[in-house]
Amino acid sequence: CSGPSDVHETRFLMGTLVDYTVSGVDQDKAEQAISAAADEMQRIEDTFTIYGDQPNAVKAFNKEAPNTPVTLPDEVSYVLGIALHVQQQSGGAFDPALGGLNLLWGFSLDPPPASPPSADAIRAAVPPSHCIRRSGAQWLRTDRRCQLDFGGIAKGYAIDRGIEVLRQHGITNAIINAGGDLRLIGSHGKRPWRIGIRDPRKPGGVLAELDLKGDKSIVTSGDYERFFIYQGKRYHHILSPKTGWPAMQNQSTTVMAPSAMLADAWSTALFVNATPPERPSSVLLMRVDKAGHIHGKLQ
Ligand code: ADP
Ligand code: MG
Ligand code: MG
Repeated sequence: CSGPSDVHETRFLMGTLVDYTVSGVDQDKAEQAISAAADEMQRIEDTFTIYGDQPNAVKAFNKEAPNTPVTLPDEVSYVLGIALHVQQQSGGAFDPALGGLNLLWGFSLDPPPASPPSADAIRAAVPPSHCIRRSGAQWLRTDRRCQLDFGGIAKGYAIDRGIEVLRQHGITNAIINAGGDLRLIGSHGKRPWRIGIRDPRKPGGVLAELDLKGDKSIVTSGDYERFFIYQGKRYHHILSPKTGWPAMQNQSTTVMAPSAMLADAWSTALFVNATPPERPSSVLLMRVDKAGHIHGKLQ
């Protein structure tokens, strides 16, 4: 619900519609801030993406010969460090090295493919676990199958950067919502912001509504965004790093965490394994399992 002093803009970024809502400032100031935030998020998409023809350091890393140390931009190193930490804590459920498998499955294609790759092709593309390593200040991959893919974390990082840019422009009340993955700050006038969490099996349906203020990040991973049905079975874009096949335990996982980056990484990790060895207490989870049962709540 939009109050009288809301400024609302939508951009297409990171393969999704990103909604910017800024409350309580005049139109010009809000539009300038949103524009700068969107530019920053576009920059992050270009820096981290493994799609398209534009060269970047991540794509170059993925072509480098195994065991060759490579310097990555500080920002990529930082996010990769966080990704590997989540990999560790989640017992390998989160794996930022599944780029080759991801491209093999082709879920980023529009439209998505009509059938899965062959079981042999999948088996051959699964990278060994922990195949991305630090080498001093540099990074290397131990194996050709090991290809960086920030698809499970970069959208959250981009949202965090977008919020930071809004703040630098003096904005204190806002939401950046990238297709259901969001961070909010401040409040909506005298009220909290109202957030809906999508029902994974009812398009347009809402599983829960939350009233939130302050600084909150909420991110959902689901099997309903990028998927196809083949011979009656659903295939989607969140993969089990062990098998290379879609993880089938859940329909959706929604995480609240201290940053959108952490919420993003953990929503993906917990989608693959809802009971990892070590989940930080600041990471709250609500999930819908494969039978449609809801577990946990965020407030
Ligand atoms: P969305 O992209 O819909 O926001 P997620 O944040 O859950 O969903 O990220 C899914 C993306 O993360 C995939 O498209 C792929 O790029 C990558 N990915 C798939 N499986 C994993 C995994 N087990 N760990 C880390 N990243 C993954
Ligand atoms: Mg994610
Ligand atoms: Mg997501």
